[in-house]
Order: sequence, then structure tokens, then C-alpha cells
Amino acid sequence: MTDQKLLDVVIVGYGPVGQSLSIHLGERGYDVAVFDRWPALYPLPRAVFHDHEIRRVFHAMGIGKEVEAISQPSAMYQWFNADWEKLVEIDWSAESISDGPVGYLFNQPSLEALFDRKAKSLANVSVQQGWEATAVHQHADHCEVSVRHGAIVDGVWTPTGETQTVRARYVIGADGANSFVRKSAGIEFDDLGFQEDWLVIDLKPHEGVKLDVPDIGQWCNPARPTTMVPGGPGFRRWEFMRLPHETLEDLQKTEKVWELLSPWVTPESATLVRHAVYTFRSLLAGNWHHGRILLAGDAAHQMPPFMGQGMCSGLRDAWNLAWRLDLILKGQASPHLLESYTAERRPQVRAVIDASIEMGQVVCISDPGEAARRDAAYLAGDVPPLAPFPGLTDGLICKDRPFACASVAGLLSVHGQIGTGEATVRFDDAMPNGFHVITLDTNPAWHLDSASHAALERIGGRAIGITADPDQAVAGRILLDTSGKYQRFFAEHGVKAIVVRPDYYIFGAVKHLADLPALIGDLTSRLAVGADVEMSTRENAEA
Ligand SMILES: Cc1cc2nc3c(=O)[nH]c(=O)nc-3n(C[C@H](O)[C@H](O)[C@H](O)COP(=O)(O)OP(=O)(O)OC[C@H]3O[C@@H](n4cnc5c(N)ncnc54)[C@H](O)[C@@H]3O)c2cc1C
Repeated sequence: MTDQKLLDVVIVGYGPVGQSLSIHLGERGYDVAVFDRWPALYPLPRAVFHDHEIRRVFHAMGIGKEVEAISQPSAMYQWFNADWEKLVEIDWSAESISDGPVGYLFNQPSLEALFDRKAKSLANVSVQQGWEATAVHQHADHCEVSVRHGAIVDGVWTPTGETQTVRARYVIGADGANSFVRKSAGIEFDDLGFQEDWLVIDLKPHEGVKLDVPDIGQWCNPARPTTMVPGGPGFRRWEFMRLPHETLEDLQKTEKVWELLSPWVTPESATLVRHAVYTFRSLLAGNWHHGRILLAGDAAHQMPPFMGQGMCSGLRDAWNLAWRLDLILKGQASPHLLESYTAERRPQVRAVIDASIEMGQVVCISDPGEAARRDAAYLAGDVPPLAPFPGLTDGLICKDRPFACASVAGLLSVHGQIGTGEATVRFDDAMPNGFHVITLDTNPAWHLDSASHAALERIGGRAIGITADPDQAVAGRILLDTSGKYQRFFAEHGVKAIVVRPDYYIFGAVKHLADLPALIGDLTSRLAVGADVEMSTRENAEA
């Protein structure tokens, strides 16, 4: 059967990336259907780490507090050699640019259950589990997605014979590593060369048991590279690299699991939640956008988990797509805005994959001689620290205009507590999501011309001043920078105003307030408002 209703977006895949995108779009009022092959959520833990930027996304989704309840702030990430000498320390517990520590540990099934509840609470989001996408066809103004129903019979997904075809303006392939949508759009993966098998074990230590292990650690022992991390409150995870002489079968035996764990934990002190071998790979899709089809999450990229960034990168994709599709479907930007999706997401993810591979190559050394040379270099301080987390280098950012401060465009913006005159709150709780013009120590309205005001109004943007001086704060116009974070950020970069996108990346910055109208004009022309506009199904119906 064909459901004739034209949806705004069909999402294939209801893992964390498809779930989060369905919430972003559903909250913005779009008609969304999301299909997943399996009748229930994937029950086994995979991701355990998310970073401060993703915490901001959770807050924007209205589930910040719930995620905090199932997460714990990160401790120091420490790497040791075989003799437990410290090689590297990465301070994931330090204060980040986003108000709170750099990282958090959580349990993926608990997060997916939260997403699930939120997505299913949205009347305009139809979650259809037990439906597998079998065909995607593109037309000039919409796509058609065919799906077939299946049920689990004797543990095997089995088609029931029921099918349907749905139509939508856009289709998102969030269907994981073997993405059917990616293949049907003819998009290939580039293999960046990393491939190692690791046994992943999740445990629940018994009540009151205190384990003598580093909180978050890599034991770079060439005899058996080993990872030990929290798996969210109440859980612990160990990961062991498969050695060349071992078969996958040997490694997965329960007695082998307890043998590997025996230096730290035994069946008397913990319950085994699950164990499985994963092949960690580094794959990156060439293009993430083909007409009306877009890719997000593992469907577009996979990476070794040493930076804890696979899911985080996918959640960034969804967050990035959400505001682009929102502007396009509201007629506030041209559909060409989707072209810069790959241009900005791919290089950022490439840099994260490269850094994850670099970390993996340090951790996964199994040759004792090579490990000794690595240890000597680290202990002598001869290894440079990891590069800072990458920002955006291309896409919808203003780097190439004489009035714009190129080094600031594409950075993740600062986020802190602000005084509104009535209370001290998170900036993103005080200001609705969208484009923000932020000026330091002055009311931005004084520096915008009528064209800038009109442009901001068209895209639902807001202008707000921030000051660290309580005497300059004016309720509703100039907010108080109670933590001093904004003051420090502006001073460090020598800028007077920034234009922040809905995903908190900086579109552009100026050193002189007189250049602010030009920066906003540049944003307007890049969004190509007025050209080639397309509107959501709902807005078309209302027009
Ligand atoms: C051991 C391990 C540790 C990790 N640690 C971290 C970490 O600490 N931090 C981090 O950020 N990331 C981590 N990751 C990565 C993270 O788990 C993944 O990147 C993330 O789960 C990918 O989410 P996704 O929604 O893109 O894909 P998935 O979760 O794979 O979801 C894809 C969905 O699409 C569905 N599907 C597939 N084909 C079809 C079809 N044809 N029709 C309908 N539905 C379909 C599937 O059933 C599935 O539910 C780790 C991964 C592993 C394996």
C-alpha cells in the first residue's frame, strides 16, 4: 500500500542518531516517520562517553537533567605502560568551554530509552519499529521509501509479508554501519586503514565492591592492550585486544572472559552483563548528501572508540541537519544549504577519526620492542600533546571576508551561566535555540542597521549583549556574564561580536562593531534567503 501523505522527513534507523534527529525535527513541528528493522531498541551497551558539546545538545532537546541522572562526570583519562608507569594524561575532568567538565560516562541503552520516550511523546513523530527499508527512490520534489514488516521468529528477523511505501521531502539514512540508504544512494566508504578486533565486556560490580583500577585507563601492555572505563553509574567496562594467534571463538568463551578479568575482578565481585567482539574500523563516506538523501551517524562514518567519539559525531550530524532542514522547510534558506553539510561535517569527522587512529596506534602496539620505544619517547616527554578538538574549517562560516576574524569562525562558541536580572541560569535556558548575535559590553541593537534587524527577524535570530560588569547589565538586553567565560573568550580572540549558529558553532566574528551589519549581510546571502525556496508540508497546507 502507499500512504499518500507527504511527510517532511523519513528517517531510516532508530539508533541514537535517528532517535535524536526525530526529536529535533519533531520538536520543531515537522511530520517525521522513523523506521527501524528491529521491533525493540538495541539492548547492549556500546558508547560509554559523551563530551561537553553533546551535553549542550541534550539540554537543547529538553532532556539535559534526565541525561545527567544516568551519567557521571569524567575523571582523568590515563594511559599506562606494561609496568603501570603513566605515559599520558588527558584531563576530561577539567572545566570545558561549555560550562561543566569535558566529558561524561553513561550507559548507551539508558540513553536510548530516554530518547525513545521523548520521540514517542511527540505527536508528529511516527516511530515504526519492526520495519526494514528495502528501496529508496528520488523524484524532483520528494522521495519514496519502501519498507517491509518483520518479526523475530526463533531469534531471526523474518518478514511477515506486510509492506508500505511512504513519501517525504527528505530521507535520512541513520541506519548504521551497513547502511542500506548509503548503498542505495551509490555512496562509497573510504577505508582509512585501521582494523583491530577487541573483546568488549560489560560488568555490574556487586553492591559495595570497590575495584582497584584506574577510573578511565588504557593499559598499553604489548602482551594484551587493555581498556578499563566506567560504563555509566553502577557499571564497569573492560576491552581487550585480540592477539594475532587468537581466534574470535576462543576470545568469546566465558571462561576466557573471566581469565582476562581475573587481575581485577571475579564472579564473586561482579555480574557479567555481556561480552562481544567488535572490529574497530575507520571508514568515511565520500559524500553525505545525494539530492534529497542525507547520511548521518555510523552510516556516514566509523572510527575506533579510543576518543569516545563515534556516537558523539553522529549526534553532531543530526544536530547539524536539524537546523539546516528547519531553515529550508520554513522557507528561510535555500535547499542549497544542504550542500555545505558534507563540507563542514566531513573534515571535522575526518580529523576526529585521524586522532582516534593515532590514539589507537599508540594503544594497540603488541610488539615488545616497539612498545619499549613508545614508552621511552613518552616518558622522556618527546611526544607532542594531542591536537585540540577540531572545529569547522569549511561550510556555513565566514572566514574569507576582510571584515571577519577568520580564526574565530568555525570554533565552538563559549557557553556559561548568565544573570538575567531575575536569576542565574544556563545561557541556553535563557535564550531560545537559533542564531545569536552576541556583543561584549554593549547593546547589540545600537550596532545593527535596519537591514540587519530585518535579516535576523527573518531567520528567527536574536541579538544580545553580555557583560561581566554588573553596572552595565540591562535585563533582556545585556546579560551578566557571572562566570566571566564570555569576557575571557572575547578577550582571548580579540573580538567584539560573534554570530553563533543554532548548533553553537561560530558563523563569524568581528573585531570592530561597525562591521557587524556586513557580517549579518554575509550570513543572509549564504543562506540565500528568497532563492529557490521550499516549505514544509504543514506550511504549504497552511499557505
Ligand atoms: C565497543 C564500542 C564502544 C563505543 N564507545 C563509544 C563512546 O564511548 N562514545 C561514542 O560517542 N561512541 C562510541 N561508540 C560508537 C557508537 O556506539 C556508535 O557510533 C553509535 O551507536 C552509532 O549510532 P547510529 O544511530 O548511527 O547507528 P546504530 O546505533 O547502529 O543504529 C542504526 C539502526 O539502523 C537500523 N537499520 C539498519 N538497516 C536498516 C534498514 N534497512 N531498515 C530499517 N532500519 C535499519 C538498525 O537496526 C539500527 O537500529 C562505541 C562503539 C563500540 C562498538
